[in-house]
Amino acid sequence: MLTPVQEAIEISLSQAPPAKESEEVALPQAGGRVLAEDVFSDLDMPPFDKSAMDGYALRADDLDSSRAVLDVVATIPAGSYPDISIASGQAAKIMTGAPVPAGADSVQMVEKTAALPGDKVRIDEPVPPGKHIARQGEVLRSGEKALDRGTYITSAVIGLLATVGKDRVRVFRAPTVSILVTGDELVEVHEKPALGQIRNSNGHALRNQVAGLGATPKMLGVVTDTVEDLRSKIREGLEGDVLLITGGVSMGEFDFVEAVLDELGVRFFFTKVNIKPGKPTVFGKSEKTLVFGLPGNPVSTSTVFEVMVRPVLRKMMGLGTLHNPVVQGILQADFVSKTNRESYQPALTSFDGQCFRTRPVSSRGSADVQAFAQSNSLLVAPPDVYELAAGQSVSVMLEPSFWQGGHSVL
Ligand code: AMP
Ligand code: MG
Repeated sequence: MLTPVQEAIEISLSQAPPAKESEEVALPQAGGRVLAEDVFSDLDMPPFDKSAMDGYALRADDLDSSRAVLDVVATIPAGSYPDISIASGQAAKIMTGAPVPAGADSVQMVEKTAALPGDKVRIDEPVPPGKHIARQGEVLRSGEKALDRGTYITSAVIGLLATVGKDRVRVFRAPTVSILVTGDELVEVHEKPALGQIRNSNGHALRNQVAGLGATPKMLGVVTDTVEDLRSKIREGLEGDVLLITGGVSMGEFDFVEAVLDELGVRFFFTKVNIKPGKPTVFGKSEKTLVFGLPGNPVSTSTVFEVMVRPVLRKMMGLGTLHNPVVQGILQADFVSKTNRESYQPALTSFDGQCFRTRPVSSRGSADVQAFAQSNSLLVAPPDVYELAAGQSVSVMLEPSFWQGGHSVL
């Protein structure tokens, strides 16, 4: 029985435990993780009444609608703290970020003034009280909550953490993802395949997908298609949070992955999915580990990762948005899908400022690593014959590479 794609996604997500355990990391390591604590400010921000302009701190009352001439009694650079008080008829030259001295209630920007001989300044326009002053604590009060647990840590969040003095921060632990590659025919990248052999590409592509997400990949290497080898490596993989196995889940005589998982106590939730490519995908769970058996063809492995595995890992990391976005794109060429499964075909999509434009990449199927490498998105077509003409609208799943840029061909 083929499990419908949506159902397979829902089942695997429902088995994925939400982020719970946390760890403390240094600020430079916090990007891309999720806060596991509320963060409070340890100071008022700004910490003092601060000038928002280069100009003159003065008393608004001293200015009438015409020009005023004031005595300049001090110069206040950022980083200093003035122990002066501005009296009527006086002003202090002040820099952006510098504390506003006592007595002054506003700042006029330097562009609306003229320095005069004898430490005087002419102010050419009046200002209302409070002008160009950022008040102490107007952004945050000492002790106030600055960030909520569950916040995704962007560069801006790192900036706020730095502002409130958090050089270490508690984040949800990222899942460990063991990656096991199976196949008698596989050799490593630096090797020249002999007759009948090919290079292992899945292990490397998967490692990058997992690491790019901020989860922790653990490479278990390449094993031969023997029950003994599979057993010992799968056992090792069942120590982590998630185990990804590529190959060995089809109907071949040496496809033992399912049998070994079963023997090691993995309970299956589905063993075939109504997806093209990726039909033999297997999903199960042992005591503490989620297991995906991914078909060996490189495009199948990566596609199933994008559709099913990525959302699971994102949930386990504590992220709020789980799925790659699916948008409507305008087809740039005719498109035909002839399969009784829901299909995901490599496509190149761009955004022209108004709408997404998407072009199917001509592919020789699930072993066409080049077509896949040229794509940044997947055309999603429902089961059965599906024909669309250029100019029609189509569902397209944007992969992370879409946002990361790099493809500019359309
Ligand atoms: P399997 O799912 O084991 O039947 O493999 C399906 C196809 O994918 C076969 O042509 C394999 O040679 C190929 N394949 C399996 N594993 C890998 C891998 N790690 N890298 C590249 N191709 C693979
Ligand atoms: Mg195989």
